[in-house]
Amino acid sequence: MSAPVVVLGAGCAGLYAGRRLRERGLPVVLVEAEDRVGGLAGGVRLGGDVYEYGPHIFHTTDPEILKDVQALMGPDLLPYERTIQIKFLGNYFKFPLSVPDVLLKLPIATVLHAAASFAWHFAKGLLVSAPVENAETVLRRCYGDVLYRLFFKDYIQRVWGVPPAAFSPAFARERIPRFNILDILDQLATKAKNLVSPRRALKTAGFVEKVEGRLWTTRKGFSLICERMAEDFQKKGGTLRLSARVVGLKRDGRRVTAVELESGGRRELLPCSGVVNTLAINEAINLFEPPLDAAAQSAAASLRYCAVVFVGLKVRRPKVLRASFMYFREHSFNRITDLSHFSFALEPGTTLLVAEITCDPKDAVWSDQTLAVESVVSDLVRESLIAREEIVQTHVFRARHAFPMYTLGYEAALKTLLDAFSALDNAETAGRQGRFQYVNTHVAMKMGREAADRLASRLRPAA
Ligand SMILES: Cc1cc2nc3c(=O)[nH]c(=O)nc-3n(C[C@H](O)[C@H](O)[C@H](O)COP(=O)(O)OP(=O)(O)OC[C@H]3O[C@@H](n4cnc5c(N)ncnc54)[C@H](O)[C@@H]3O)c2cc1C
Repeated sequence: MSAPVVVLGAGCAGLYAGRRLRERGLPVVLVEAEDRVGGLAGGVRLGGDVYEYGPHIFHTTDPEILKDVQALMGPDLLPYERTIQIKFLGNYFKFPLSVPDVLLKLPIATVLHAAASFAWHFAKGLLVSAPVENAETVLRRCYGDVLYRLFFKDYIQRVWGVPPAAFSPAFARERIPRFNILDILDQLATKAKNLVSPRRALKTAGFVEKVEGRLWTTRKGFSLICERMAEDFQKKGGTLRLSARVVGLKRDGRRVTAVELESGGRRELLPCSGVVNTLAINEAINLFEPPLDAAAQSAAASLRYCAVVFVGLKVRRPKVLRASFMYFREHSFNRITDLSHFSFALEPGTTLLVAEITCDPKDAVWSDQTLAVESVVSDLVRESLIAREEIVQTHVFRARHAFPMYTLGYEAALKTLLDAFSALDNAETAGRQGRFQYVNTHVAMKMGREAADRLASRLRPAA
């Protein structure tokens, strides 16, 4: 039998790529560093409970992926309605923001000031272009200075550790959620701009953080979808290697010849006919032996991911939060979820909360579990959401590659890395980490599917 294609990483992208390669008749080994599949979407089993990173909701408008997931899940796929609240200036706002909610809860002076500032920046934006476009110039032009400062400036700095001016405009387009009121203002602005200067009209569609299609969950969260994909991969004849970390990629010129694994304290070489990478692209680039060129290595060094420490709390109360997701600006965590809103199977009388602390792995909170738990618990107690005596268990889990950071100039570095992959004859890269792109699960799956198709065609060109 010929050497298998090795898929690196068993998150949504890797699971989908592995299944697709098997459907195309290729031998496949899927290797995963953790002892479970799913990556960010896989959830964590702790003390008999399933905690999720997020948690994850499944949604897609791709009919093929929706049909596939529905076939895998059958009646276990449950429709879900999410609710979101944001605490801001001492008030709770529903998200997306509604005009009456904002008008009633924000001071009238702030609303008037914001409207005047929006009009001024809108008019200025028509006449003067920013010398260097970055996320700050884009957000100011779209929202005016007052709304920009109110909603984005400090918040972005606090959550991401970097000011908006250090982010590429792509960050504003892909990462900033839109509020209804700002949509209305922006639609008016776009219409006016089209009238005044059609050539310079600002495209706004890309600014919407898209949650597409109906929302779905399961009794075990997204992890059940990942487990079903893994079962299906194995049923189709694929080999799954868990607790197997990729530590090297051997190449002979433009061909990847073997994947070096570390598993159970031992190293081994797995000969391969090709690879689909879904590991962080900047880390994968550094695994090649012999190394790729200096340009690729320096591009790899310039890309950064934002990490997240998740603090899970089991609380003796059936429900704690009034919405499934709540966002806070002045606490150690910026988002917290209550899994009782997600149809999860929970121990009666208890719920699971998951708070998210964004950080850099160099920050103390990344390695200090006590600090992470204490920061979250004291904030929740101060917010009168829980009492300390209600906490049954606490767990800390982490994601080092939670969010790709679109800092200024990242596009050029990413292009260098993607070009380095395409220069190889038998390698593809896919997924949120593999393409350094802020995407949701269904897009990661689509990327895995397309990478598998491209590699299969390269390895077995049509006669
Ligand atoms: C907090 C949060 C909430 C989110 N919520 C949603 C949501 O509600 N809905 C939604 O659709 N999307 C959501 N997303 C996005 C979603 O998580 C991703 O799009 C998707 O999981 C990416 O899958 P992936 O396979 O590309 O990457 P990953 O899931 O990161 O998979 C990469 C895999 O590679 C493995 N790996 C890494 N290094 C090695 C190595 N050296 N050797 C072997 N294996 C290795 C990892 O363990 C991991 O399993 C959310 C993301 C975050 C961070």
